[in-house]
Amino acid sequence: MKNLLLATILALTAPLALAALPPTRAVPGGVVVLDLGVPTEQPAPSARFNDRQVLVIADNNSWKAVVGLALATTPGKHAVTISTAGNDTRTLQFQVTDKKYREQRLKVKPGQVDLAAEDNARVEKEQLRIRKSLDSFSNNLPATFMLKQPVQGPRSSSFGLRRFFNGQSRNPHSGMDIAAATGTPILAPADGVVTDAGNFFFNGNTVFVDHGRGFVTMYCHLSAFNVQAGDKVNTGDLLGKVGATGRVTGPHLHFGVMLNGASIDPAIFLAQP
Ligand SMILES: [Zn+2]
Repeated sequence: MKNLLLATILALTAPLALAALPPTRAVPGGVVVLDLGVPTEQPAPSARFNDRQVLVIADNNSWKAVVGLALATTPGKHAVTISTAGNDTRTLQFQVTDKKYREQRLKVKPGQVDLAAEDNARVEKEQLRIRKSLDSFSNNLPATFMLKQPVQGPRSSSFGLRRFFNGQSRNPHSGMDIAAATGTPILAPADGVVTDAGNFFFNGNTVFVDHGRGFVTMYCHLSAFNVQAGDKVNTGDLLGKVGATGRVTGPHLHFGVMLNGASIDPAIFLAQP
């Protein structure tokens, strides 16, 4: 009987432990993996960071939180709030160190910096729609954190690049650009569910894939997409094709990775090229 019970517990916990966790990069735009100090024999605690639920997963017999750190995270002390099944709440502190991202200063015609009123209205509406996908937090655990590169091509290292147009600061570059010709297939880097696919002012044709518990990827500027909201995708399935839609200067894939709503450096999840 005891053996049977043990076997049952192993069967329940083993699939959760298969995903190798991402490495800790405790910098703005990075990831921190925290041991919550709760053994996996106990129910999974919940963890929150900046009032958002974060991914909690079993690893080496204890529950770990995998926390995405937005580019706007200030260096210094931060904390996640942990609540256990017994309704015990405590905080766990961690340190974020600074990372200097490069700056890019561009001079463009004034009309290209300030949007026309109707474009502004469109962008504002779209931002809510985009946020909805980026913030999704579904119940399934990610099958893996090791992503396959979605298109073959040279990767830029421009994640986090701070951009200024005519001296006005813009949002930093929140993803990785991969250069590829228009029409190059974009393949799902891991299993997931498509949460949205549509055309957006800045991002052009865009697909969002939810891999579970706030682990989300996005694909922008596509010439065409081959999936729609609700589609289940497996690793290697065709999501769409590389293009130059939206505000771009040439064809490439903008690849974004989110954890708990924060854009983090996709390079953390990809094997070295
Ligand atoms: Zn980009």
